[in-house]
Amino acid sequence: MTHRVFNFNPGPAALPLEVLEKAQAEMLDFKGTGMSVMEISHRSKEFEAVINTAEADLRELLGIPANYKVLFLQGGASLQFAMLPMNLRPAGASADYIVTGTWSKTAIKEAKKLGAARAAANTEAEGFKGLPTSLDLDPKAAYLHFTSNETIHGVEFFTEPTPPAGVPLVCDCSSDFVSHPIDVSKYAMLYAGAQKNAGPSGVVVAIMRDDMIERTPENLPVMLDYKTLAASGSLHNTPPCWSIYMVGLVFQWVKKMGGLAGIEKINRQKAGLVYGAIDNSGGFYRGHALADARSLMNIPFRLPSEELEDAFAKEAKGAGLIGLKGHRSVGGMRASIYNAMTVEGAQALVDFMAEFQKKHG
Ligand SMILES: *Cc1c(COP(=O)(O)O)cnc(C)c1O
Repeated sequence: MTHRVFNFNPGPAALPLEVLEKAQAEMLDFKGTGMSVMEISHRSKEFEAVINTAEADLRELLGIPANYKVLFLQGGASLQFAMLPMNLRPAGASADYIVTGTWSKTAIKEAKKLGAARAAANTEAEGFKGLPTSLDLDPKAAYLHFTSNETIHGVEFFTEPTPPAGVPLVCDCSSDFVSHPIDVSKYAMLYAGAQKNAGPSGVVVAIMRDDMIERTPENLPVMLDYKTLAASGSLHNTPPCWSIYMVGLVFQWVKKMGGLAGIEKINRQKAGLVYGAIDNSGGFYRGHALADARSLMNIPFRLPSEELEDAFAKEAKGAGLIGLKGHRSVGGMRASIYNAMTVEGAQALVDFMAEFQKKHG
């Protein structure tokens, strides 16, 4: 039997085994073409079905209203940090950003290079541990941007912030995309790099209300221009065909798991197991995020010393639990338990944590 570990990597991250097996089964002869998905034309009817099915399944999962476009983009979520203000912030206007961790901090930094952006809140002084208690909102902002799940700090919004009337809400949901139901109609735009929760790297899924696409100014380089990319159905140039195919398989798998409500239930169960292990450790394990902001996807935690943290990562790896070393900016450990992590995997981590504490605590 193939050897598989419990993969807690933050991204690229674990994919559902069923999805990998389906891709494997279809690899050499995709739908009778005698070729893999990577070898067929992006203009072929076979690929057209791949991209159209992926979009239709996502529309069904998220309940995306008809006046929104779904785009498959390249350049990672990081390119969106620049494309967004280029397209959605008119010349001379300012955009608001809620800064709750590394990713929103990076997003506003990028937006400031090309024009005006201000922080409607910034929790950095408190160590990026929680959600802002108040927002200083600009009623004339071009948009309000927030990061629904801070992948490094493990801080997640469970209700979206409310922008002033008429200010579009924009969300980087890279690391909690398709992990729970949301009301898309509250957003003007959502975008997610696939490699955290929805597929391999190489594609960003963006969901945009039609009036946002109309904001694109004239003369943007075409690959940075939402309007052209939307008008071509994400096929202006060669798209990341394989990544789109894989994302489509993940959407089908999420549907099989009971849709977003079904997957959220499992995600809550897994997070409950790991946070329970932290909370019941008598202070041996200490979570980074404040209780009301704790992410269901990324759980950074510390041990009493860096020596113990190094030992934890090493022994965990020996036990088949990999990817648990935290980001250097927070230190310690981080368990990323995206959709593809099984309850069995979360339980294996919890069991390992108890055993490790017994041995070293
Ligand atoms: C990983 C991540 C990004 C950056 O994604 P790339 O695809 O590597 O550019 C941006 N935002 C969030 C929330 C992320 O988790």
